[in-house]
Amino acid sequence: MKDTRAAAQPIITLEKVEKYYGDYYALRGITAEIRQGEFFSLLGPSGCGKTTLLRTIAGFEELSGGRLTIDGKDMKGVPANVRPTNMVFQSYAIFPHLTVAQNVGFGLRREPLSRAEKERKVIEALDMVGLKGYGARAAHALSGGQRQRVALARALILEPKVLLLDEPLSALDKKMREQMQMELRRLQRQVGITFILVTHDQEEALIMSDRIAVMFEGQIAQLDTPQMLYRRPVSRQVAEFIGVMNFLPAKATVTDATHIEVEAAGLGRAVIDPEQLPGGWHPGETQSVGIRPETMSILFPGETTDRRVATGVVEDRAYYGDMTYYEVRLDGVEKPMTISMKNLVGRPVLERGEQARVAWDARSLVLFA
Ligand code: ATP
Repeated sequence: MKDTRAAAQPIITLEKVEKYYGDYYALRGITAEIRQGEFFSLLGPSGCGKTTLLRTIAGFEELSGGRLTIDGKDMKGVPANVRPTNMVFQSYAIFPHLTVAQNVGFGLRREPLSRAEKERKVIEALDMVGLKGYGARAAHALSGGQRQRVALARALILEPKVLLLDEPLSALDKKMREQMQMELRRLQRQVGITFILVTHDQEEALIMSDRIAVMFEGQIAQLDTPQMLYRRPVSRQVAEFIGVMNFLPAKATVTDATHIEVEAAGLGRAVIDPEQLPGGWHPGETQSVGIRPETMSILFPGETTDRRVATGVVEDRAYYGDMTYYEVRLDGVEKPMTISMKNLVGRPVLERGEQARVAWDARSLVLFA
């Protein structure tokens, strides 16, 4: 039986971790806990410090300040090769002149195990990553996806407590990447160890992770589940990095402790919950409301709804087969907003210049200072 208490224990703690190169601060005070057995992602734009953070956990970089523990032990002065971590790199670092089995067994060469035990472990590891029977193949003859699996098997065979993955799928084409995302997730659940993934691809992070740390400029902007990051981003910067969000100028007043009244351009007045203000706010600050494209819908002519209705004009549309993306300029608003609609059978498609009635809900609003 799975021990849920153990699952919630931190395997890695970061306390005010700093890293600077000369006078350049790559990490500016990172504090976080990464839990045992979770799929954790470091997500952010290029240069935000996610690889640096992964490398400090691995022990390839020394901290400039703060504290890092893995499995309850302070990692100060502990070299990479004795940490309970293992890293899978973007460039798979496969030895092309060796066989698949020799590549996978490489890390075991100094382990005090019999040859038969090593062979058994290699077979198990290959089985785990879906390469059963590939042991005798030459590594140079493998496809990109297969090389990635070999790299994974080679890292897992050492039974690390934490597997570190630095953009492991970025060299694969789209189809292969999507397949490997599902497989990595399945593999992580199967082996039950903590995976820490570095990625700049928000979709990849949302699909795979239990929790995600969104990083900008050497700091964690928000650490949350995919659902919370998407629904309750703490800032416009996070909201814009994860998916698409429309912003409208807004004014808010607190009516009482549990209700906030918002007046949003184009939408009108709405009462929202304090949790729809995830970044906090002080009276008097300028605000905007955010609303996701798929939380709104364009009504058919004559269609009725019990949702709120705003009106505007279609400025543009883009047809994507399963979806149509509309650019609608609400009455009284300068910039058009994006609304996404599933293309259902019988649903008419609006053309540029047509009037549109837009249904929306107060619960879908997020207020930003
Ligand atoms: P990417 O997705 O492009 O790899 P990243 O978020 O992983 O970006 P890092 O590689 O962690 O970013 O780099 C963070 C910052 O630290 C960058 O501005 C980078 O130029 C700088 N940096 C990283 N390593 C060094 C180094 N050895 N010496 C000097 N600066 C460095």
